[in-house]
Amino acid sequence: MIIGNEKKIEILRQIIKNDNIPHAMIFSGPEMIGKKKIAMEFIKNIFCKELCNECYFCNSIESNPDVNIISPVDGNIEIDEIRKAKERLSLKSYHNKIKALIIDDSHLMKKDAQNAFLKMLEEPKGDTLIIFITPFPEMILKTIRSRAQEIKFSLVGRDEIENYLISIGSNKEKAEEISLMSSGQIGKAINFFKDEEKMEFFNRSIKDIIFLSSSDMSKRFQYAEKLKDDKIKMMEILDIWERFLRREILLKIFNHKSSMNNYSLKKTKEVIDELEKIKYIIESSNVNKRIAFESLLIKL
Ligand SMILES: [Zn+2]
Repeated sequence: MIIGNEKKIEILRQIIKNDNIPHAMIFSGPEMIGKKKIAMEFIKNIFCKELCNECYFCNSIESNPDVNIISPVDGNIEIDEIRKAKERLSLKSYHNKIKALIIDDSHLMKKDAQNAFLKMLEEPKGDTLIIFITPFPEMILKTIRSRAQEIKFSLVGRDEIENYLISIGSNKEKAEEISLMSSGQIGKAINFFKDEEKMEFFNRSIKDIIFLSSSDMSKRFQYAEKLKDDKIKMMEILDIWERFLRREILLKIFNHKSSMNNYSLKKTKEVIDELEKIKYIIESSNVNKRIAFESLLIKL
């Protein structure tokens, strides 16, 4: 079941209906809104026009020899992985349809890995489709982007998330709370629903930023030290803080009680700008992550 982004899904259906499948696509948009799920459904739909949910193609996308899905391991996509995938793409389609490759978090491919696709996209041979999934399309080489059809997905509406959670067994109150916390990210909402620990981590991270924003520098540095270079955790925390601060802005604009009384509207916006900058730096470069994180903490 796919929730949200109906218009984009309709575009994908039309592409299949018109048999107008490009050689490369970029599925961009915020994290955890179901881009990978939609990419998989799209490919299933190429193999099974009815998306019947009963046939071999609908039930075995992971073992379909014509489909290859690459996901990063420890925040890396190795060039070897890409070379192997390219080789597989160059084989004839086993089912006489297409050869497809999905690369999740494809911004994590280094330049040489991205470059490996160029020739293929310049002179595509046979029916191949590569879907690059990423929340940071600007980190994909321009030369790839110019040859790919980009589909921009967006956050999922609060009501849609709430209704979905209720449909999988949540009560109304919990569904409301989770949908508020997950800020349009259906994947996050499902994780929260299934995993109490994640919800606790979320709440604790919010307490942390409230505390840190009025603490002295030594406390802030201690916090950074604790995280060291744990990029994944750092990004999770930054993500939570960003969503929390965005909600704070709304509360402040509408004169509701906000949690960060020590922050003006202007200050909140400044911290969000800084936060976005730091997220980008941590994600896209090899800087010392703790130092980057510290530079944000100083500005809280
Ligand atoms: Zn089917």
